[in-house]
Amino acid sequence: MGERINITRSSMPPYEEFIDAIKPLWDSHWMTNMGRYHNELEEKLKDYLKVDKISLLVNGHMSLEMIIQAFSFPEGSEIITSPFTFISTTHAIVRNGCKPVFCDVKASDGTIDEEKIEDLITEKTVAILPIHVYGNLCAIEKIEKIAKDYNLKVIYDAAHAFGESLNEVGIGNFGDASILSFHATKVFNSIEGGAVCFHDDWIYEKLYNLKNFGIRSETLVAEVGANAKMNEFCAIMGLCNLRHLTEAIKSRKEAFAYYCEAIDKIKGISSFRVLKPGEVNNYAYFPILVTDEASCNRDEIYDKLRADDIFARKYFYPITADQNCFRNKYKEVDLHVARDLSKHILTLPLYEGITRAEQDRVIKALS
Ligand SMILES: *Cc1c(COP(=O)(O)O)cnc(C)c1O
Repeated sequence: MGERINITRSSMPPYEEFIDAIKPLWDSHWMTNMGRYHNELEEKLKDYLKVDKISLLVNGHMSLEMIIQAFSFPEGSEIITSPFTFISTTHAIVRNGCKPVFCDVKASDGTIDEEKIEDLITEKTVAILPIHVYGNLCAIEKIEKIAKDYNLKVIYDAAHAFGESLNEVGIGNFGDASILSFHATKVFNSIEGGAVCFHDDWIYEKLYNLKNFGIRSETLVAEVGANAKMNEFCAIMGLCNLRHLTEAIKSRKEAFAYYCEAIDKIKGISSFRVLKPGEVNNYAYFPILVTDEASCNRDEIYDKLRADDIFARKYFYPITADQNCFRNKYKEVDLHVARDLSKHILTLPLYEGITRAEQDRVIKALS
């Protein structure tokens, strides 16, 4: 047995670089509240992500909660979403007093099945909330056509798709808004952090109010808000990590290619990172599909890896609709594709700096 291998390992800048970068905070004593580094990170991310408008928040989850809140949907509104995701997506809908209407996914890439959306639309439907799961991009054109036909909002959970683009268009440009996560485990991190990308100016003002108690001046509280600001330490970590992101992604890309080559030779196992033509990959995840032709099933592979101290993850099992807190609570929908997928999927360790020796240990357990 070798050293423990985790599903991921946070990218961090050189220690001295971060320490030098935070030094000015001891002069200014300005640690949060839309400070200089918060604003600088917003500007730099606009460039990197090729978007016009962005608002930084404390994390990805609050970005999702607050963009849903920003649209002021009536209590009990229905939002069509996919259950093949991290639990945060469904929580954000429910915590806004809306009802998730689960839509099945496509077996080909795990994203929402755009052909099944229209049947789920009722007079209470207000939005579609699809997920670019593992960075696999949704059927953006079709989803936006449905939204237009039925006058619905589209909010993408793009937490896995940081920095991706389709035909040169940054992923944050699609829909009415997209949320990103800069959590420590993500391809780009600010320790904790998140953002919403959008088009309309009013959304910037609205999110500003929601994340800062509605405070607009010393004497004016314009509306009811919470606290979900990104602090200066996190913004500085983001700025440092952004400087090294190209090399981090290069390292991931090489590891990704190494996995692909090895997996090609293993019967019944294939990469589940499905690229569309014109798509730029961020190499955030390496999900594999373990079919019935493989020599072991998904759970057996998971156990074999664990026996060698390798922590792969069953992302995303169970589907969110089947979690204790949501089971049997919402509209009954046929979700057999998502359920089946969730039993055959395994996400392998992938991070900046993973060694070929570490990957060889992972590969060994697959064959
Ligand atoms: C990570 C993640 C989130 C939540 O982001 P945090 O920054 O951890 O709050 C939401 N949705 C998906 C799909 C995620 O992977």
